[in-house]
Amino acid sequence: MNGRRVEIAIVGGGLAGGLIALALHRRHPDMAIALIERERALGGNHRWSWFASDLDPDGTALMAGFRKTEWQGYEVRFPAYRRRLRAAYCSLTSLDFDAALRRELPEGTIVSGAEVTEVTASSVTLASGEPISARTVIDCRTFAPSRHLSGGWQVFMGRHLRTPEPHGLEAPVIMDAAVDQHRAYRFVYTLPLGVDELFVEDTYYADSPVLDRSALSGRIDAYCRGQGWDGQILGGETGVLPVITAGDFSAYRAETAIEGVAAAGARGGFAHPLTSYTLPIAVANALAIAQEAELPGVQMAAFVDSRARRHWAQTRFYRMLGRMLFDAAEPDRRYRIFERFYRLPQPLIERFYAARSTLADRIRILSGKPPVSVVRAVSAIVGKGTPLTERHPR
Ligand SMILES: Cc1cc2nc3c(=O)[nH]c(=O)nc-3n(C[C@H](O)[C@H](O)[C@H](O)COP(=O)(O)OP(=O)(O)OC[C@H]3O[C@@H](n4cnc5c(N)ncnc54)[C@H](O)[C@@H]3O)c2cc1C
Repeated sequence: MNGRRVEIAIVGGGLAGGLIALALHRRHPDMAIALIERERALGGNHRWSWFASDLDPDGTALMAGFRKTEWQGYEVRFPAYRRRLRAAYCSLTSLDFDAALRRELPEGTIVSGAEVTEVTASSVTLASGEPISARTVIDCRTFAPSRHLSGGWQVFMGRHLRTPEPHGLEAPVIMDAAVDQHRAYRFVYTLPLGVDELFVEDTYYADSPVLDRSALSGRIDAYCRGQGWDGQILGGETGVLPVITAGDFSAYRAETAIEGVAAAGARGGFAHPLTSYTLPIAVANALAIAQEAELPGVQMAAFVDSRARRHWAQTRFYRMLGRMLFDAAEPDRRYRIFERFYRLPQPLIERFYAARSTLADRIRILSGKPPVSVVRAVSAIVGKGTPLTERHPR
């Protein structure tokens, strides 16, 4: 085949693809890698946040080169109480993600503004017709909902704001659920990015993936007014993420897999089912792939697939909680599940976000008087959820 040849071609320069390229380069500085992204910039228009406790020392080292904002402690607010937790919290913008990768990866590694039209076990073809052949191909393209997966949606709109005066907020409020619920689990998430800079995000665990921009924008206005915040809008983001509560993972993989191609990122199934976050999982996966970087393509595909299946099996508990949230609780009362959860000890909360809950944690989370009807809880636990391709407003 004519065209360029690399050892590893990564399709999709989002969070997962970018981290895999970085981890590979750090471990194998001489390895020829191509990170191919259809947009001009890597990482889209996102802000990724995570708890420092989500990452092990190697993961922390992988993320060390990125410029990020960090806080010691955060707050949650519910109708019945507020709580301040001590855990360190970090946030990275896609602009800084793109900049760090362009700084650190050798010239020619990043191929951006290049849509991939064909992926096989030994090559990718760009929309321009240019082929790139590779010993190993890793597919990190965007996740697409599937009829083999069930659940609901996390719908959100964030706004980056500069206030004329110091806003006075010292620590992130990662859930302010003491707000009108609007027939979902709704909370507002606020990050104090500087003394006069805020990021305010309105989030819904909703039955439908519809993002009503004008309604959400109006609600962010109202929330900011209520907090006494005003100012210039510097930017924003929107998102509609699947919250996977059940499914047939083998059927999903059969539908999306390309023989001999490793599938990583959210597309490969590497997400926290309940929070839809992927960063800690993407970091761990990137490090594992870098460790096995010499594997031929077919073996790399099998290696990543076995990690995905293990992740699916290990996160069953969170999918069951997701069914309780969507199928057992009335939309306006979903917040009570988190209100109860946030009364639990901090280490348990940390392990929950890192998708590392122990058996004792799981028992603790489920014990006591349930915040939803027992009959509906049982039916939700044994239920199959609603396919993610169906829209089902209640
Ligand atoms: C606004 C927003 C905020 C979020 N916040 C967080 C957060 O705080 N923490 C967290 O952990 N998660 C967060 N998430 C979840 C987020 O989706 C994932 O964490 C993460 O972005 C998924 O990474 P990924 O690489 O799997 O997929 P993506 O980020 O979707 O990356 C896939 C990439 O593939 C590219 N691509 C697709 N098709 C092609 C093609 N044919 N050719 C070339 N390139 C292609 C896309 O352009 C994209 O850049 C957020 C998501 C959104 C939308």
